[in-house]
Amino acid sequence: MDTKDSRNQFSRSLLRAIQEASPDGILVVDQHSQVISYNQRFLEVWQMEEQCRPDEQAMCQSLSEEPLLDSALRKLKNPDAFLQRIQELYDNPTLHDHAEIELNDGRTLDRHSTGLFDDQNNYLGRVWFFRDITRQKLNEALLQDLAWRDPLTGTMTRGYFLERAEEELQRAERYGHTLAVIILDVDHFKEVNDRYGHYAGDRVLVILCQRWLEAIRNNDLLGRIGGEEFTILLPQSDLQTALQTAERVRSITASQPVHSDGIDINCTVSCGVAMLDNNQNDSVKDALKRADNALYSAKKLGRNRVEQFSGVL
Ligand code: GH3
Ligand code: MG
Ligand code: MG
Repeated sequence: MDTKDSRNQFSRSLLRAIQEASPDGILVVDQHSQVISYNQRFLEVWQMEEQCRPDEQAMCQSLSEEPLLDSALRKLKNPDAFLQRIQELYDNPTLHDHAEIELNDGRTLDRHSTGLFDDQNNYLGRVWFFRDITRQKLNEALLQDLAWRDPLTGTMTRGYFLERAEEELQRAERYGHTLAVIILDVDHFKEVNDRYGHYAGDRVLVILCQRWLEAIRNNDLLGRIGGEEFTILLPQSDLQTALQTAERVRSITASQPVHSDGIDINCTVSCGVAMLDNNQNDSVKDALKRADNALYSAKKLGRNRVEQFSGVL
């Protein structure tokens, strides 16, 4: 066998291996939109019926792309966008394509495609790659969720709260608004745990957060700083509004016990309130320190009360 023959054979064998072993569903279409080939994985990814016999798969020249496309379109959440992009790619053969596409059955596919050209740069067709990335997307969503949502109470994590609060502070600086922050700490919570158990303590935190969310405005932010300590950021609020909100939170905490497994658990909360200066020199962390200082006063003065920061830190 001469070198050219053996090179050709090598290329054919490589192509076969790529088709058979690739984790991607592969579809090859010529310049007349005729299907040249697809691999088994393509049918699996798209959950499609066989379009031609396996032994013919490598050479399906007579098969039009239409049935495959129709079948794919029926499975898509957004078939119009898909069709529009395909048309764009066939009109502009040199374009490379990468997109994530959502299917009606909840799965997500990663789609790549690129044009095929001969040595003279004549357009020959296009090869499409489809990969099921549903699991990866779910993991990403889960990680994102863990990053911003406290798993017990569903409130914002400390990190995400600080990020959002900094954004609100910048907005306040831009528009000249004032904003306030409240720190809340459940009173004698250790006793709740000691008396009713850690599980009941967890229940208390969940129920209190639900109540507090009802007592604040939609655009106020509730975050868990840690343990039984929480914080509320109130955009576009003056001191009066912040004190009223803190008082509402305090009073709905104290006014009714939390029911857990047939027992009533009485709780109170102490609140420290501080304003944020809408100028370049203030930061959310500084304001939280001032609110914490006010909280300390509330605890010292007997708990179940609201105190505002007064003084210098
Ligand atoms: P104070 O009025 O001074 O705030 O008293 P306290 O007992 O609330 O304060 P302390 O800091 O002594 O205790 C806080 C307790 O909160 C101790 C800790 O075990 C409990 N705790 C923190 N996080 C959780 C949680 O996620 N679940 C439960 N059940 N308990 C928690
Ligand atoms: Mg406490
Ligand atoms: Mg505490």
